[in-house]
Amino acid sequence: MNHLEEIRAKLGIEEVVGGYIQLKKAGRNLKGICPFHNDTKPSFTVSPEKGIGYCFACNTGGDIFKFIQLIENVDFPEAVRILAQRANVQIPEFKPEAHSIRMKVIEMNSSSAKYFAEQLDASDKHKDYFFKRGLTEETIKKFKLGYAPDSYNSLKDNLIKIGYKESELLNAGLLNQRSIADKNTYDRFRNRYIFPIYDHQDNAIGFGGRIIGDGEPKYLNSPDTPAYNKSLVLYGLNWGKSAVKKEDMAIFVEGYMDVIACHQAGSENVVATSGTALTAQQLKLIKRYTPNISFAFDQDSAGIEATKRSIELAQEAEMNIKIITVPEGKDPDECIKESPDKWFNAIKEATPIMDFYISYILKLHDKNTLDGKKEILNFLLPIIKKYQSEVEQNEYLEKVSLELKIDIKFLWNDLKKTSIKKSYSPPNATVEETPKRRAYLREEFLLGLIFQYPDLYKLIEENLIDSVPVETSTEKFYKVCKKVYNRLSMVDLDAVKKELSEEDKEKIQVYALLIDDNYPDFSEEAVKKEIFEFIKLINKKNIDNAERELIFKIREAKDSGESTILLNQQIQISKLKTKIF
Ligand SMILES: [Zn+2]
Repeated sequence: MNHLEEIRAKLGIEEVVGGYIQLKKAGRNLKGICPFHNDTKPSFTVSPEKGIGYCFACNTGGDIFKFIQLIENVDFPEAVRILAQRANVQIPEFKPEAHSIRMKVIEMNSSSAKYFAEQLDASDKHKDYFFKRGLTEETIKKFKLGYAPDSYNSLKDNLIKIGYKESELLNAGLLNQRSIADKNTYDRFRNRYIFPIYDHQDNAIGFGGRIIGDGEPKYLNSPDTPAYNKSLVLYGLNWGKSAVKKEDMAIFVEGYMDVIACHQAGSENVVATSGTALTAQQLKLIKRYTPNISFAFDQDSAGIEATKRSIELAQEAEMNIKIITVPEGKDPDECIKESPDKWFNAIKEATPIMDFYISYILKLHDKNTLDGKKEILNFLLPIIKKYQSEVEQNEYLEKVSLELKIDIKFLWNDLKKTSIKKSYSPPNATVEETPKRRAYLREEFLLGLIFQYPDLYKLIEENLIDSVPVETSTEKFYKVCKKVYNRLSMVDLDAVKKELSEEDKEKIQVYALLIDDNYPDFSEEAVKKEIFEFIKLINKKNIDNAERELIFKIREAKDSGESTILLNQQIQISKLKTKIF
C-alpha cells in the first residue's frame, strides 16, 4: 500500500468533509451546504462508497486530497502533508517531475526547423519558389520556412550528431520506420518545402511539408506525437494572437500559405487548421482570445459543406460568426498576390451567416416550386428560430419572404410552429443560476450510467457505433471499458480503475455521482430507456462528425484518384444515417 492509499484508508471522505460542513444522510449518500459557492440548499453530495464529495451546482469537489486543496487553498503536496498529519502517516519528500517527453519532442522539432531553414537559405533555387509565390525574405524568416533535402538520412544524421537518439526522433515523428519487420529508419520529410507548426505558446510542435512539383500527398503533416495533436492546434495563432485580441476577431483560412500571405499583407488576425477539419477544441482555444470569428473557406461545393459544418460547430460554441467571400472564388493567398485591397474589402464585406445559409439552400432547391419552397423553409426556419430577438427574426423572415414570394405573416405563423433542437438536460435535473455550472455531455451521463449499472454496458457494445464516441474528453474512458469488456465479458469497475490515472479515476467517480444526483429512484427499465436515448443521440453526433471529417478528406483528395473511394464512404454514411434515424 502506498502512502496515499494508506491515508485514504484511514480517513473517509465523510470524515474529512464533515470537519468543515455539516452533513446529513440522503439515501446512500450525505449532503451538506456547499462551501464553494453561495449555496442555499444542500448541494454538496458526499459518497462514502465512492470516496468523493462533489457539488454539481458549481462543479467543485473531488477526493479527500482534492477537497483539502480546494478548501485550504493549498497545492497537492501540501494537502497530502496536512492529511498525512491527521491520519498519522509518515510520508517521504515529493520529487519534481522529470523533464517531460513533450518538451524533448519540442526541442527536437526546434533543431529540425533550424536545420530545414538552413537548407532553404543555402539554395537559391528553392528560395525562389517562395519568392515566386510573393513572399519576401523577411516573411520566410518570420515563419521559419524551410526545405527538406531529397535524402533519406540528412535530418537523421544531423540530429544524431547533435546528440538525439534514433528512438527519440522516431517518437517525435521526424523519422519513419520501414516496417515492423525491418526496423531501419529514414527521414519522414524528403524533398519538400517545410512549414514548421507552432502552438499558441510558440513551441515547435510539428511540421507541414509541401511536395515539390506534383505528386501525392500534396501536404504531408507530422503524425500525432506527445507534442502534436492536430485537433488542438491552430496554425498561425502564435504570430496572430495579439492581432486577434486587438481586432477582437479571428479569421479562419484554409492553408499555411493563406495564413502567411495574410500576415505579409498586414492582415494578422488569421489562423488555419492543419490536416483536420475544424474541431470544437480549436474553437475553445480561439474563444480565449475572441468570441468573433469569420470563415474564409473555398467556395466549391465541398468548401461550402465545410463552411456549413464549421458554422454548426461554432454555433454550438456560442460564437459570433461571419462569412468572408473571397472575390472570383480564389484562395486568400491568390487574392492577396493580385491585390491586398481586394482581401481587405472582402473582410469588410463579410456577411452574416443567414445570408450564407439563404444563398446555400437556394442553390439546392427550386424556389419556384411548392416542394422547393417547402424544402427551403424546412431548412431555414429552425435556423431563424434560434435567434433570440424578434427584430432579427423579422429581418431574416423578410429576406426569405422576398426570395420565395410568400407573405411574411404566413412565415411568422410557420416560425411559431417550428421547433429547435434543444440541448439535452436529464429528467429532474435541478437548474440553478450559478455561473460555473456546466452542462454535462451525453457521453458523460452515459459513462456515469455504465459505472453505476455495469451490467448494462452490453447495450453500449451492441448499439453504439464503434462503441467509442470520438472527439470528446470521454473517449479514453470508453476505450478502457471496451478493453475490459473484451477481456472479462463485463465491465468490472476495479479492472477499469486499474487502467486509469489518479485524476481520471476521480473523474469517473464524479460521473457516477452525477447519476446518483440525477436518477435517484430510477427502475432498471427506466435506466435502460435512458441509455438507449443517449446512444441514439451520440450515434447521430458521431455520424455527423465522421461525415464532416470525410468531407474534409474528399477535398484534400480531390486531385487524386482516392476521392471515389471516399465518396463511396460518404454514401455509406448517408445510408447508415437513414437506417438509424
Ligand atoms: Zn457548490
